[in-house]
Amino acid sequence: MSVSICFLGTGGARFVVAKQIRASGGMWMRFGGTQIHLDPGPGALVRALGTIPPQRPAELDAIVLSHKHIDHANDVNAMIEAMAQGGWKPRGVLLAPGDAWESESILLPYARHFVPRHEIVEERGGPYAINDVEVRASVRHQHPVETYGLHFRYAGTTVSYLPCTRYFDGLIEDYAAHKPDVLVINVLRYADSLDVDHLTLDDAKRLIAGIRPGSAIMTHFGTKMLERDPRRIAYDLEDELGIRVYAAHDGWTYDAVA
Ligand SMILES: [Zn+2]
Ligand SMILES: [Zn+2]
Repeated sequence: MSVSICFLGTGGARFVVAKQIRASGGMWMRFGGTQIHLDPGPGALVRALGTIPPQRPAELDAIVLSHKHIDHANDVNAMIEAMAQGGWKPRGVLLAPGDAWESESILLPYARHFVPRHEIVEERGGPYAINDVEVRASVRHQHPVETYGLHFRYAGTTVSYLPCTRYFDGLIEDYAAHKPDVLVINVLRYADSLDVDHLTLDDAKRLIAGIRPGSAIMTHFGTKMLERDPRRIAYDLEDELGIRVYAAHDGWTYDAVA
């Protein structure tokens, strides 16, 4: 009954992704025997095959997109084709917000047919069942395209993923209600020098303090966060909040026991 999250990428922001200062392959999650690939950004397929031991796309049960931006979804077609063994063995579930399916879709029409089950993720939607994992969507995030966080529940353990967004108070209420054992949170910015739809470290601190997960894992770092050493920032947050806080790095696997 184990739960694990393998980080195939921990970079965010266009500059970090464009230069691959950190990789951008998203997360490979295992809930017992169920395997879910979340947010396959640029390089996801290469990174998945490059882990030791390699992840096997043909064993995936689902691909999930929080939103359709390149750093979260670029490799979705390559992953679908790999999951379906070149299209010969259609397989699995694809979950994505409505605007990833419709206007300016990132999904190639031919590739999406390699996945037999499509789920259009809606605000506070679900549960969407992936074998014995229940997935529920969060409140809609404040981000330029349709974006939802995801709450994964399996064998009494909840892993919540809080992707890119501007800060607003409704986030705390939504995520706290799911009582996550593990909260993965995208902390792109160190401080607010620009007015953008992303969390700063201060925002993340407020969210972690308000949601009070069992453990918090920061990821999706921009340049300034990387310059300040996310691992040290995690230690400081942990001291301040009294909650276990990790900074993810490329290739790291977090193990939780369900
Ligand atoms: Zn992003
Ligand atoms: Zn985005």
